[in-house]
Amino acid sequence: MDLPGVEAFVAVHDRAALAAAHDGDPATAVLAGGTWLFSTPQPQLRRLVDLTTLGWEPFTVSAAGLRLAGTCPVSAVADVPARPGWAAHPLLRQCVRALLASFKVRSVATVGGNVCLALPAGSMTSLTAALDATAELWSADGSVRHLAVEDLVLGDRRTALRPGEVLRAITIPDAALRARTAFRRTSLSRLGRSASLVVGRRDPGGGAVLTVTAATERPVVLRYPAVPAPAAAAADVAQRVEATCGWFDDVHGAPDWRRATTLRSVAEVCGELA
Ligand SMILES: Cc1cc2nc3c(=O)[nH]c(=O)nc-3n(C[C@H](O)[C@H](O)[C@H](O)COP(=O)(O)OP(=O)(O)OC[C@H]3O[C@@H](n4cnc5c(N)ncnc54)[C@H](O)[C@@H]3O)c2cc1C
Repeated sequence: MDLPGVEAFVAVHDRAALAAAHDGDPATAVLAGGTWLFSTPQPQLRRLVDLTTLGWEPFTVSAAGLRLAGTCPVSAVADVPARPGWAAHPLLRQCVRALLASFKVRSVATVGGNVCLALPAGSMTSLTAALDATAELWSADGSVRHLAVEDLVLGDRRTALRPGEVLRAITIPDAALRARTAFRRTSLSRLGRSASLVVGRRDPGGGAVLTVTAATERPVVLRYPAVPAPAAAAADVAQRVEATCGWFDDVHGAPDWRRATTLRSVAEVCGELA
């Protein structure tokens, strides 16, 4: 849709220009794929700052792991080549497919836009929170800070981003990519938005991690020294969610149904990993 209130569109080519254009003014937003920005009225916005002209490499693979640029298209995450020992590699494609949209949307929507928009059904949040990823955040004053994705997404459309901050990249550590994973996604209809997404991880050293997204407004991550028994894990997840953020409620699923389906998925994931 047209955004008639927007008076300026700034294409930036380096960090200094980005900092000058995106200085924390609430009437300015950075633009990545634009699949959400142009999907709904933005009456508060006067200026858009285009990140895609920065020319960031979509992803790089190294001994440290996988670094996804903020501007990496969601669809490109499925193209990351597998490295020997990366047992978690199928999770990349599973989470790309969990973004319920056409190939046109997936190929322009970005990893940074998905995480920074912070919808509960943000499948790049699911992927990166489940694999202990860290976000590199650039601020307008030239400083850089690092934050676990688990702590970056705080709630439905709420993040820990400070005014003027931009998500430069997200790094998934090599160690997490070597884990075995199990994935369960549930939605109200076959082509519906995720209402519950559970990722289980069994690390080579035996430790286990359970991550719930979509059913909760922020990622809920539980860590264990070994894969827990299914019933115990389901009880832990229920206790943690109910003591913290509660079960999410919107048109994509009622809280009691989300609870039931998530706990079933948690038990299944533990059974599969064991
Ligand atoms: C048909 C359709 C289906 C969709 N399905 C889903 C779905 O299943 N799950 C889901 O989560 N979303 C969904 N969306 C919403 C949205 O398209 C996605 O979340 C998408 O990943 C957003 O990425 P983008 O690059 O297009 O972001 P944009 O629209 O460009 O930006 C989104 C927000 O993030 C900010 N932003 C973007 N990049 C950065 C950055 N690097 N640093 C700081 N802030 C940044 C922008 O300022 C803006 O506030 C859907 C949208 C459509 C149209």
